[in-house]
Amino acid sequence: MGLAEIRQEVAKAAKDAGRAPEDVTLIAVSKVQPLERVIATLDAGQRIYGENRVQEAAGKWPELREKYDGIELHLIGPLQTNKARQALDLFDVIHTLDRPKLAKTLARLAEETGHCPPLFIQVNTGEEPQKAGIMPAEADAFIAECREMGLPIVGLMCIPPVEEEPALHFALLKKIAARNGLEQLSMGMSSDFESAIAQGATHVRVGSAIFGDRDYG
Ligand SMILES: *Cc1c(COP(=O)(O)O)cnc(C)c1O
Repeated sequence: MGLAEIRQEVAKAAKDAGRAPEDVTLIAVSKVQPLERVIATLDAGQRIYGENRVQEAAGKWPELREKYDGIELHLIGPLQTNKARQALDLFDVIHTLDRPKLAKTLARLAEETGHCPPLFIQVNTGEEPQKAGIMPAEADAFIAECREMGLPIVGLMCIPPVEEEPALHFALLKKIAARNGLEQLSMGMSSDFESAIAQGATHVRVGSAIFGDRDYG
């Protein structure tokens, strides 16, 4: 596939769902990809990227930001509290606020620096023990707690279990967001972004369908 094709498919999925294509933001997930593939998409006009490790992003994006204007970088992987300060410097949006300890750290840093990027709360919709995120039953209370701390919560994020029908998880995330007055939904990856858009995704995180398979070797 590739960037142009995925852009078309995102726009089509939005139209099919009776939504405006510009209401869905395509985040190109560049983690682990060779730099030349990332540069090819920058040259093709893509500006919104997702990375899941602070360290990897720090080694790549400051330099690219000097060469390309208007880059918007989203953190989509787990954030350790000892990397939170660095993450606030590097990222324009954080999708993975997943526990009270991190909320407290971000609130403290926000007060200290006077700055905090928009935050998504990650919900563990499949209640998987190995996966990060707030349990669905605890989401309402956690959202309220974050708001009391003054954190700029803009929406919810989820990663459905691999073996399950993703649409059910997308629907659950949407329901939790709606009853808490949150409008943005970060959901949908290469294999299921069309379904996510049909369910109301405002941000889809697409990696391998744009760049090709990741080579972890
Ligand atoms: C890697 C990753 C993606 C992109 O996955 P693809 O299947 O390559 O599209 C999306 N979201 C998160 C949280 C990821 O870690």
